Amino acid sequence: QSKSGGRSMVHFFTPDMDERAQKRLQLESHLRRAIERDELSLCFQPRVQARSAALVGVEALLRWRSDELGPVSPSEFIPIAEESGQIVDIGAWVIAQACAQQAAWRDQGLGTVPVSINVSALQLRDGMLTGVLRDAMAAHGVLPSSIEIEITESTLMDAAEQSLTQLRALKSLGVQLSIDDFGTGYSSLNYLNRFPIDKLKIDRSFVHDMLDDPTDLAIVRAIVGLGHTLGLRVVAEGVESVEEAALLQAAHCDELQGYLFGRPMPPEDIPDWIRQVAPAAAA
Ligand code: C2E
Ligand code: MG
Ligand code: MG
Ligand code: MG
Repeated sequence: QSKSGGRSMVHFFTPDMDERAQKRLQLESHLRRAIERDELSLCFQPRVQARSAALVGVEALLRWRSDELGPVSPSEFIPIAEESGQIVDIGAWVIAQACAQQAAWRDQGLGTVPVSINVSALQLRDGMLTGVLRDAMAAHGVLPSSIEIEITESTLMDAAEQSLTQLRALKSLGVQLSIDDFGTGYSSLNYLNRFPIDKLKIDRSFVHDMLDDPTDLAIVRAIVGLGHTLGLRVVAEGVESVEEAALLQAAHCDELQGYLFGRPMPPEDIPDWIRQVAPAAAA
């Protein structure tokens, strides 16, 4: 083992170190080389208008296929990337890649496909995010209004006052801002009102359970009401069935995203998805 990759490359596995800790160290050291080894890619999932099912944009979702470990799920490696600080470099790669992809679709004659990019609160606080995003948009001729930045509720509220300053800088670029996994954190309504945000994304756990659980349905309706009162658009994620879509539509949710409409797919599949689904939706 080389030491050149930094401290984390040196592994001392002791018998009492549990398996999960070993796995974690292993993931962290492999992840450190993922960008240069070209192991990262982006998938894109469509998001549609609740009323018409017309495409409103796509969300970029990071994928990692490690040469040694095979595919690793974001729920496994994103937290590690955040704790080790690697998310700053990985996040910059995601932003550049997402902007490049939007430009590639445009060059293929698809027009402007709005792209949502997930950003960790750590990237926001690192202070480089605004510059990284501005440079990537400029490099690929991307319209700021066609980029949406998603930040999870739980992490955003951790350092709300600090986040507020960074969000304002980000918003000044002209991008859309949305709060992801809404309902799972503990939002201060005071901050929610002060944050320069455009959208709330209802966490899919509520969507998943609302058909069986009246409390979850009540929460979904309350979030839509809160969002609209604050002048925000409300998106539901994790929509898997026609019943769920109908209920969300009746609850006046603005946009829907989920397997019912489209799974996350490689970028080369998006043009066909648009050609096949969009005319049907418009009809
Ligand atoms: P998220 O931003 O809330 O993304 C939605 C997740 O729900 C995605 O999981 C997506 O594949 C999944 N999903 C979409 N529709 C459905 C559905 O109908 N049913 C079910 N069961 N799941 C659905 P994924 O791709 O595994 O990503 C997980 C999380 O990892 C994301 O949650 C996001 O928080 C994070 N993530 C992904 N890419 C990035 C990235 O580039 N940067 C950062 N910081 N985080 C990312
Ligand atoms: Mg998201
Ligand atoms: Mg989410
Ligand atoms: Mg999530």
